[in-house]
Amino acid sequence: MKILVLNSGSSSIKYQLFEKPENKVLLSGIIERIGEENSQVSHKFHNEDGTYKKLEIQEPISDHEKGLKQIVSLQMDPEYGAIDSADEIVAVGHRVVHGGEEFSTPTLINEAVLQKLHKLSYLAPLHNPHNLKGIEVATKIFKGASQVAVFDTSFHQTMPKHAYRFPIPESFYLEHGLRAFGFHGTSHQFVSQQAASYLGIPIDHFNTITIHLGNGCSMAAIQGGKCVDTSMGLTPLGGLMMGTRSGDIDPSLILFLAQNLSMSVSEIDRLLNKESGLKGLTGDNDLRNILLRYEKGDSAAELAIEMYVYRIRKYVGAYAAILGRLDALIFTAGVGENSSFIREKVCENLNILGVELDEGLNNEKTSGIKEIQSQGASTRVMIVPTNEELQIVNQVFDLIGD
Ligand code: AMP
Repeated sequence: MKILVLNSGSSSIKYQLFEKPENKVLLSGIIERIGEENSQVSHKFHNEDGTYKKLEIQEPISDHEKGLKQIVSLQMDPEYGAIDSADEIVAVGHRVVHGGEEFSTPTLINEAVLQKLHKLSYLAPLHNPHNLKGIEVATKIFKGASQVAVFDTSFHQTMPKHAYRFPIPESFYLEHGLRAFGFHGTSHQFVSQQAASYLGIPIDHFNTITIHLGNGCSMAAIQGGKCVDTSMGLTPLGGLMMGTRSGDIDPSLILFLAQNLSMSVSEIDRLLNKESGLKGLTGDNDLRNILLRYEKGDSAAELAIEMYVYRIRKYVGAYAAILGRLDALIFTAGVGENSSFIREKVCENLNILGVELDEGLNNEKTSGIKEIQSQGASTRVMIVPTNEELQIVNQVFDLIGD
């Protein structure tokens, strides 16, 4: 059975075509800069042996519908494709950023669901409208396929009230739905389940702190396999310091910017979402470049790294207190999987939590799941590569599979 996974952003569409139940990736790719003259298509045909053939195309792609049509024609290409007709695709799994309180599991999309999702867009105006555009276009193109929404927020719906409510009058929650939701749920769920199964611990007995460090960064406290707290809030702006987002700040900073510097709401939005975090402190949001500058003694890079790590460590402490017993600390995503330096700094002097890194294992370059704690340490420290597309396709398959 062929299932397509789509992740539609404001100017990009990422895709992967899977064969289930084998979990084989047949094709994958991304279209970037949709709507610009210099749109770019990167398409991969995956061979049986794990290698792939790559095709790069530069041509203007004016909108998401044209982008998706291009994806379909690449899927049917005699040399780079894997299907003869779009009808072979049985289901399309869509990453949807915000599912609000309404959607706590993957959901088959129909007209009523679509209307509810449109209503939720006010909670994630930067993300949901683009996800919905992808659903609308895919519904037109893959007429016979089931369309399934998989939400970034779902995994966090098990948080208790005392974790997700804001300490402001209840009417703002009851009338406007304002509360913490959390994001990156697909990733936190995937890596915690992978780690539990790798360790042979039943998921409902597994307590872990998952640390997702990519361009966006978030953490989750997971007790018995269920999320009990997470660092992002109403939107993905809260929590850890990120590539371009501030993460947690004193809310009065916003009042100050508006009242004393006469900044508009959209200027403050831009400042906190696009011009803060690592970028705000160093001018660069790519941690690889900042680490190179750090090694040369660049003081802005030093401060940025200290702040980035300090904030992760504060959450580790808070979540350890919430969980009581900690089985594993899990690092994932671009930074978490690849930067031994950041992992080392996060774990420094965490003996109080039973965390002790093995320097050799931490620095060793390997792929796949790995334990990197020193022998005899009571808490495992793990690198678990995230794979949101695989988690989405598994969830779609569970929903619609025979
Ligand atoms: P993601 O959003 O998960 O794709 O992660 C992207 C981020 O991972 C980039 O902004 C890079 O800063 C970071 N990254 C990737 N490789 C490394 C590395 N070897 N060391 C440090 N950061 C890395």
